Amino acid sequence: MKKILITGAAGFLGSHLCERFLKEKFYVIGMDNFITGSLININLLKKYENFKFIDHDVSKYIQIDDPLDYILHFASPASPIDYLKIPIQTLKVGSLGTHNLLGLAKSKNAVILVASTSEVYGDPLVHPQKETYFGNVNPIGPRGVYDESKRFQEALTMAYHRFHGLDTKIVRIFNTYGPRMRLNDGRVLPAFIGQSLRGEDLTIFGNGSQTRSFCYVDDLIEGIYKLLFSDYNYPINIGNPNEISIKDFAHEIISLTGNSNQKIVFKELPENDPLKRKPDIELAKNILGWKPKIQRKEGLRLTYDYFCNLSVQELNKKDHNSFDSYNIYK
Ligand code: NAD
Ligand code: UDP
Repeated sequence: MKKILITGAAGFLGSHLCERFLKEKFYVIGMDNFITGSLININLLKKYENFKFIDHDVSKYIQIDDPLDYILHFASPASPIDYLKIPIQTLKVGSLGTHNLLGLAKSKNAVILVASTSEVYGDPLVHPQKETYFGNVNPIGPRGVYDESKRFQEALTMAYHRFHGLDTKIVRIFNTYGPRMRLNDGRVLPAFIGQSLRGEDLTIFGNGSQTRSFCYVDDLIEGIYKLLFSDYNYPINIGNPNEISIKDFAHEIISLTGNSNQKIVFKELPENDPLKRKPDIELAKNILGWKPKIQRKEGLRLTYDYFCNLSVQELNKKDHNSFDSYNIYK
């Protein structure tokens, strides 16, 4: 049985990845410190015999006694409000955490894939974003803690590849959504659905003309799976190029939930919030033979059903992420 270590296992993407590899009959070691993750996700995975969980902060030295064939490094806050709340941990997990995992991969002679992000392109001046674009990032802005930790992660990963000959992969993930996101993590889709379910106004930041391109989680997981077993070692975009403005997206959520008298309120646009985002996925198509299959209409329905089935306590938790307590407006 091949062994794989997956960091960020209690999070949204990590838990889906664990499940995929468990179903493919890998022995999966999940690692997480629950800083933005949920025990519910780990409890779902515990029903598999071939799953082991280690509660650990990957920014500290990692001790694994088992041999490892593969490592997927997905531990990191990913919601803009999460990384504003915990900026130092965000910088550490992308830098020190990545260093620990690359060192572990080297000592185990394992293939390692790291989760990068479309945020390495910052507020892009090139549209759609191709892997060859170097980006437009403000290193000292509020999002810099995430963007720069991911840019450093990419640089360090390429250095281990070039200098140590390690078999490394880098996936640049564009906005992905689906079941197991935290309802209150502040990202736009759970924010809008949570507001709908609680009968609150939908909050649009700025005038809503900024765009995003949303990928359903199953499509992303398939792309990552193909990348891990490819021999491609440079960064590759995985996302859905179907671009939509946040205002149109709010209207899609209103028609999905059927609350046609729900109001939209406009708040200030957070500083350095990218105005446009859409992946160029030609490389993924050519190298991996991958493209997304799930249309937004279907993906949103599956995600909405998941959130509708959450308990009333989960829905009414008062820990909503909000930008209000951070001085991050222009
Ligand atoms: P998430 O917040 O749901 O999951 C992240 C997980 O990492 C959480 O369970 C958290 O507790 C864990 N974690 C954070 N710091 C840790 C540490 N120091 N040690 C151990 N565990 C730690 O976020 P997600 O959406 O699942 O994102 C997963 C990865 O994918 C991240 O690296 C993120 O940057 C990347 N990514 C996600 C998206 C997206 O749209 N979901 C887009 C781009 C990149
Ligand atoms: N957004 C919004 N209302 C919300 C949450 C987010 O209008 O309640 C906007 C946000 O300003 C950004 C877009 O939706 O322009 C996507 O935000 P998200 O936090 O999901 O991810 P990002 O792509 O910015 O990392």
